[in-house]
Amino acid sequence: MKYSRILLKLSGESLAGNGNHGIEDSVLTFYAKQVLEVVNVGCEVAIVIGGGNIFRGLSGTESGFDRVKGDQMGMLATVINSLALESAITRLGGKAKVFTSIRMEPVGELYNRDKVLEVMKNKTISILSGGTGNPFFTTDTASALRAVEIGADVLLKGTRVDGVYSADPEKDPSAVKFNNITFEEVIGKRLMVMDSTAFTMCRDNNMPIVVFDMNREGNLLKLVRGESVGTIVSN
Ligand code: UDP
Repeated sequence: MKYSRILLKLSGESLAGNGNHGIEDSVLTFYAKQVLEVVNVGCEVAIVIGGGNIFRGLSGTESGFDRVKGDQMGMLATVINSLALESAITRLGGKAKVFTSIRMEPVGELYNRDKVLEVMKNKTISILSGGTGNPFFTTDTASALRAVEIGADVLLKGTRVDGVYSADPEKDPSAVKFNNITFEEVIGKRLMVMDSTAFTMCRDNNMPIVVFDMNREGNLLKLVRGESVGTIVSN
């Protein structure tokens, strides 16, 4: 196994399936299955989910919301998604536990790095909700921060694109995919992998990022086993 401890970042939008909003049960079940496959081969898994399928603070400001309140709404949205994923995992017979970065027992236990490590060792998937707990950040940044804190081998960014391309493959048919790329090359070529705060956090702490297509069955397991899937960004 190439990676024995991973931090998986899933976007909130992906949970909505073909719609833009809400949670599509079939997507949740699909993700839960993929994640359980890697737990079953002995990988320790922590997950950070976004909240874009429910609310984003920045879009809220466009319709007159206070940014801090909007971001708090966004962070709560990630808790909703995390609870949904926890229940999908449990339904399939797996073990999962939601931590929150903002105190809200009994919804979830307050995030505690040592407790997360303990839980993961026990084949339980740690779902780290509430982002960083601070406004003006994103769940990309939360996933970078948590990956570094828990000493993950890699941050896996599950998307609907199968890696980092020279241009947006959904707009430019001549775009080529990179299998490996350095943080410096990403900056030099002005490619977008994660937002700049998250990206810098990973670069400065030597945390490799793999961007891959989470919607393709078996990809997560292949990746953890060391097969070439997606794009590896490293120093
Ligand atoms: N958010 C925040 N602080 C954080 C993480 C998230 O304020 O540390 C808020 C922010 O408003 C963001 C929303 O939660 O727009 C949902 O997160 P994100 O946009 O990262 O979700 P995704 O795009 O991955 O679905």
